[in-house]
Amino acid sequence: MSSPLEALLLHPDFLALGEDFYTHLQPTPLNNPSWVAVSSELANTLGLNTSFIKDDESLNILSGNVTPSSLKPYAAVYSGHQFGVWAGQLGDGRAITLGQIQGQDQSWEIQLKGAGLTPYSRMGDGRAVLRSSIREFLCSEAMHGLGIPTTRALAITQSPNRVIRESVENAAVVTRVAPSFIRFGHFEHFASNGLHAQLKELTDFVIQRFYPDSLEQDKPYLHFFEMVLKRSAKLVAQWQSVGFCHGVLNTDNMSILGLSLDYGPFGFMDKFALNHICNHTDSQGRYSFANQPQVFYWNLLCLAQALIPLMAIDDSDEAMEKAVEEIKPVLTSFSSIYLKEYQELMSHKLGFQGDVSGNSLQIIQAVIQLLDNNAMDYTYFFRNLSRLVKDPHQSLLRDHFVDTSAFDTWMTSYLNHLQVLGLDQESTIDKMNQVNPKYILRQHLAQMAIAESQAGQHAMVERLLQCLTQPFAEQPEFEDYAALPPDWASHLEVSCSS
Ligand code: AMP
Ligand code: MG
Repeated sequence: MSSPLEALLLHPDFLALGEDFYTHLQPTPLNNPSWVAVSSELANTLGLNTSFIKDDESLNILSGNVTPSSLKPYAAVYSGHQFGVWAGQLGDGRAITLGQIQGQDQSWEIQLKGAGLTPYSRMGDGRAVLRSSIREFLCSEAMHGLGIPTTRALAITQSPNRVIRESVENAAVVTRVAPSFIRFGHFEHFASNGLHAQLKELTDFVIQRFYPDSLEQDKPYLHFFEMVLKRSAKLVAQWQSVGFCHGVLNTDNMSILGLSLDYGPFGFMDKFALNHICNHTDSQGRYSFANQPQVFYWNLLCLAQALIPLMAIDDSDEAMEKAVEEIKPVLTSFSSIYLKEYQELMSHKLGFQGDVSGNSLQIIQAVIQLLDNNAMDYTYFFRNLSRLVKDPHQSLLRDHFVDTSAFDTWMTSYLNHLQVLGLDQESTIDKMNQVNPKYILRQHLAQMAIAESQAGQHAMVERLLQCLTQPFAEQPEFEDYAALPPDWASHLEVSCSS
């Protein structure tokens, strides 16, 4: 009997683009694979029932050991800017796309990350380690739980095959799932090589499948860019509102669909710091928390440059200049779109229900300063704020501030402002709890789950997965996961090594 997964896997649409866009290849098998975790929610979305979870054939497919004969797996080529510098050709160095599954309202590409060498592996070994695979798996599903657009993760499988990083680790494969993994870097790749026919083919493909409204416009490419910019601005606003730091915001890690993509040395901040750098190899702080919106803008500028040849009616200097002039106001709109999104999200977190007029805005700005000055735990603060709305005399937050008088001053103005807004208290508290997560993927939780998994016990990965898919709900059985991090967690560092 064929596996339920095999029955659903189809030839991906991306292959229609032709061989300038990818290389066909088979995943490299791993010894003795075993399951680490499965997202049953995503399995359901894909139409896989739970029997899939125990199925050996599915295990072999998702470890890259068996490829259904109907499929022609591939690795895609792209290029990109890394840390602000043009890096030239990159590509799927260890990710191999198997096929796609037709869901109810969209199709999903199924990609194996860590499935072996590809023509784009450069100096890498084509593998991923269990540690980074668990982080990517949990963060993908946690982001989805938070309502933030992201690539998803269906499963992790592992093998006793050894992989050398800073130490010797077990190999693993994450099954990543997304409507498309196309990145800004794909567009840069064809533009930088002067391959304008392929650039057009790629852009038309993306527009037809994901931005069909642009086809109705006078200037479809300009409209497409504007839509990508809007989705990107919204995404980074959501990251900033939950205290998420990506760590490696290179243009090859920017999704053309506005999805969070490529989880490496990311971190949800515990102690809030605007200048937080979560990737300890980013010594200059280019990708610090506060820089993320600016970096998105910079990356969009790179995308805009790549699209200019399509927007110009011919390749004369005048036509190019005209296209540049047309795209400029769209680029300029980024900061106001971002700010509007961000301020609204913060307004909801504070219980102002979207109000961003004068005083609301001042209080939003003041709370960011207050949390930054006091290195306050970001998630804990917002989640517990609603309890102070109910009973301002509770000390559960005040005790965590170094500068208690600054806290008192802010709190007084905050509570006064809530009164001025005249919103119903019960519903304000309810609404605050719907947007302020109780549970996030804290570094120490990921680290504990990784340590247990490395020792052969995967229960904590499953428990965290279960908890993080409902981050806004009270889940008494997971109360420990909502606690402030232990002291040892402040020394945790994550690098690019994955
Ligand atoms: P990242 O910084 O993880 O986004 O990776 C940048 C580029 O390096 C991408 O093209 C990856 O596919 C590639 N890469 C990263 N790690 C490996 C590896 N272990 N083996 C092969 N390629 C890799
Ligand atoms: Mg990447």
